[in-house]
Amino acid sequence: MDCVEDLDDRVSVAIIGAGWAGMAAAVALAQAKIPVTVFEAARHPGGRARSVEIEGIALDNGQHVLIGAYRETLRLMRAVGADPDKLLLRQPLAIDYPGKFSLRAPPLPAPLHLLAALLRAMGLTWRERIAALRFIAAMRGSAYRIAVDMPVSELLTSYRQTGALARYLWEPLCVSALNTPAAAASAQVFLNVLRDGLDGAREASDFLIPRTDLGNLFPLPAAAFIRANGGSVHLGTPVRMLAKTEQGFVLDAGSARYTHAIIAVGPHQLDTLLGEFAQLAALRQCVGEFSFEPIYTCYLQYPQHVSMPQPMTGFDGGITQWIFDRGRINGAAGLLAAVVSARGEHQAFSQAAVASGIHRELAGLLPGLPAPLWSRVIAEKRATYSCRPRVVRPQNKTAVRNLYLAGDYTASDYPATLESAIQSGLSCASLVIGSETGSA
Ligand SMILES: Cc1cc2nc3c(=O)[nH]c(=O)nc-3n(C[C@H](O)[C@H](O)[C@H](O)COP(=O)(O)OP(=O)(O)OC[C@H]3O[C@@H](n4cnc5c(N)ncnc54)[C@H](O)[C@@H]3O)c2cc1C
Repeated sequence: MDCVEDLDDRVSVAIIGAGWAGMAAAVALAQAKIPVTVFEAARHPGGRARSVEIEGIALDNGQHVLIGAYRETLRLMRAVGADPDKLLLRQPLAIDYPGKFSLRAPPLPAPLHLLAALLRAMGLTWRERIAALRFIAAMRGSAYRIAVDMPVSELLTSYRQTGALARYLWEPLCVSALNTPAAAASAQVFLNVLRDGLDGAREASDFLIPRTDLGNLFPLPAAAFIRANGGSVHLGTPVRMLAKTEQGFVLDAGSARYTHAIIAVGPHQLDTLLGEFAQLAALRQCVGEFSFEPIYTCYLQYPQHVSMPQPMTGFDGGITQWIFDRGRINGAAGLLAAVVSARGEHQAFSQAAVASGIHRELAGLLPGLPAPLWSRVIAEKRATYSCRPRVVRPQNKTAVRNLYLAGDYTASDYPATLESAIQSGLSCASLVIGSETGSA
């Protein structure tokens, strides 16, 4: 974003929440030389994509995967000095369910990479391959738009995407991207992801797996960038009240006044911050109707010789959905991370039972697997909103002048992801600048 002359004299922005959305807004405003103050309740930035320390190791509150189509995330990482080429392991599209299914995109220009991947996939009948190609052709023909949104499973059935195609390709992609089971997930949002991910440039479909902890991927370098560019980031500083006076926005956390405010908290944390704004009752009701989906990550530390055949391996029929081999990703030999997205029967089990169930499933693939040295389950119960058909997501601009909302749950083509969080923050920054320059 270009520097905007003189705005620093007239504008000051409070941002509540130092997740990826809030930090994106703050970085973009700092780039434009606009004074920005970030307030974060936790002692670390990053929100739902943050580092945690387990057994003395810097890990994440959840194993995250980015894709090559996360254009704004990758651009902003570069802007704050976090080099995606070094910090992310780039893997061409590959989905492996050992002995059952394997799909790998060869290094061909798009869309040949996808065509070749489907034609060569192991575990699909010819009828299924042809059905998949027809489905993609039909979705391309309609520009990946459907007239009326419906559950993903309904869309898949109507295009004969059943059997192994559904089980090993579309349903896992849906649950991973939308964090909502295919039977409940929005087909339109899923198609948006397929359009940009699978059917974009070849690199767009790459999986990008963090080699470092999530804090170092963006939130910490972003905080350093903001401070170096005249802004401030206050950690361990919850905001309990936000109001608008004639002098500007005022927060309980400090006596300063701000011309603009960006609320960048999670959707379930929004309500208390909107209490002073009668005009936002409809917004509160809209977000109050959201339901949420969990994500469980289970870290299992095995002896160092234990490894998986791939950095990322699919599992089906049990608790585990994906296993990430941290040894292959960043050299943490013997450390595996199991991911279980969306709601499911595992939620009825204790965390110890989830960990031992995952160990048993791994032992089925790796005969002679010793018991883990330690294991730890992190259950994020409200990892994302449930991305169902026709869910109304609020706009970044609110009915209160100069008050904006950033977050992965705000209106976007994308489901609740790092990219939608980053895009929402950038959009709020543009709205702030536009409100002063007359362009918004
Ligand atoms: C386990 C897990 C796995 C995931 N995997 C992926 C993945 O593989 N790929 C992907 O793209 N996305 C993934 N996601 C989603 C992604 O992490 C989120 O979409 C993104 O982090 C949301 O960022 P945000 O800034 O919108 O919200 P948040 O991260 O929720 O940030 C809100 C911030 O506001 C702070 N806050 C709240 N209230 C206050 C207050 N009153 N005062 C001050 N501060 C406050 C919170 O502490 C928090 O730091 C995953 C999420 C989870 C939980």
